[in-house]
Amino acid sequence: MQLVLASSNKGKVREFNELCKEKIVPFSDLMDSFEIIEDGNTFAENALIKARTIYKKLGKGFLVISDDSGITVPILGDAPGIYSARYAGENASDKDNLYKLIADVKAMNVEKTNAYYTASIAIVSHLGEFVVHGWMYGDVIVTTRGDGGFGYDPIFIPTGHTQTLGELDTNIKSDISHRAKALKLAEPIIKMIQKKGN
Ligand code: IMP
Repeated sequence: MQLVLASSNKGKVREFNELCKEKIVPFSDLMDSFEIIEDGNTFAENALIKARTIYKKLGKGFLVISDDSGITVPILGDAPGIYSARYAGENASDKDNLYKLIADVKAMNVEKTNAYYTASIAIVSHLGEFVVHGWMYGDVIVTTRGDGGFGYDPIFIPTGHTQTLGELDTNIKSDISHRAKALKLAEPIIKMIQKKGN
């Protein structure tokens, strides 16, 4: 059974390949890439929309995994949350979103504030639909530090650390990240589906 990732976000594809023991191919390797409208109200709903859409195109014999994730900043009324990928506008780049978040936090007259990442992973196969979640807590700061990771990582300092995810070794992010935690919960589900076969 082939494992397919319902994402073409380069940062996510790289992290999934580092975290996942099994070979997982991005859906864009199997079909022309197309836009999936993520109009859910939660990370879980959006993760399911993505995995379901790709599974419908591929069908039996495939196990589709998707990740919907983002950063939540309570001082900003829980923004950007599920809108993390388009915080600075529909076609905004990761850099545009990062600098909008910095500007918004600065506007609250703080240099550091609580934040957390959420990852919802959906698994869709002929055995049905499953969703698991992982979180990583910490703070965001108003200056970028380091160029590791992706997205909002240059301003995110995980709880218990003094460096941002842009500065910390990738192995540390792999141990503590929202995505890694969700994937740990997804692994036994993936194994169960593979064991049951087609
Ligand atoms: P999605 O592809 O619709 O799930 O959007 C994810 C958004 O959240 C993107 O803007 C990412 O930059 C951001 N994001 C999710 N996970 C991470 C992470 O581990 N580090 C940094 N940014 C992340």
